[in-house]
Amino acid sequence: MRTTTTPRVRTGIVDQHATWIAVNPVQGCPKSCRYCFLHERGQAGVAPETLADPASTVELLLTSPLYAPTRPVAPAKIAAAPRRRMSCDESCQGVRAGR
Ligand code: SF4
Repeated sequence: MRTTTTPRVRTGIVDQHATWIAVNPVQGCPKSCRYCFLHERGQAGVAPETLADPASTVELLLTSPLYAPTRPVAPAKIAAAPRRRMSCDESCQGVRAGR
């Protein structure tokens, strides 16, 4: 499946991006779109890996020094851009509800 030559890098499950907190409990994408930033991380063309279950992910978010209730959160696997940004509270409610 692997089509990239860049070594695979696992990023933090809770990570700060430009203006939002990214939550990445699942990392990697089996597709290999040419334009995708995941090539830089060696995470395109690879099997997705689950690095944390939903409960652990919420705990990591809530205990992160990056966390604040009103900060935007992108609660998605690293591969997918969020359709809309959510606040931390919305995100945690979604994870708890299994969305
Ligand atoms: S994350 Fe999206 S753009 Fe990137 S390789 Fe997967 S499907 Fe393509």
